[in-house]
Amino acid sequence: MILVSKEFTFDAAHNLVKYHGKCEKLHGHTYKLIVTIAGEKDEEGMVIDFLEIKKVVKENVLNILDHSYINEIIEQPSTENIAEWIWNRLFDKLKTERYFLYEIKLYETPTSYVTLRKEF
Ligand SMILES: [Zn+2]
Repeated sequence: MILVSKEFTFDAAHNLVKYHGKCEKLHGHTYKLIVTIAGEKDEEGMVIDFLEIKKVVKENVLNILDHSYINEIIEQPSTENIAEWIWNRLFDKLKTERYFLYEIKLYETPTSYVTLRKEF
């Protein structure tokens, strides 16, 4: 099994209503998203074309979340909840007989991130 990853960033605003702390008031983050696909190589020597990952992530995630106010899309947009929303939008679209969505990492700051991984 080979893991293939691609990294993305998007800017978005949020505030956490059921939370008391720094993220309670409206503010923005530059989120970093790392999408990892697992699979076997095809006859061209590739698991998945990086361009295909880019297209799927752009159409299903970035076009919606980039420069958005995330609260209008996801209730209580914690990094965990945003990561689950992204996972659910990508899973079926990055799945063939040969590869599948293995993991996503979502960074809210350069040192704080959430990981979701496929359960077997
Ligand atoms: Zn925040």
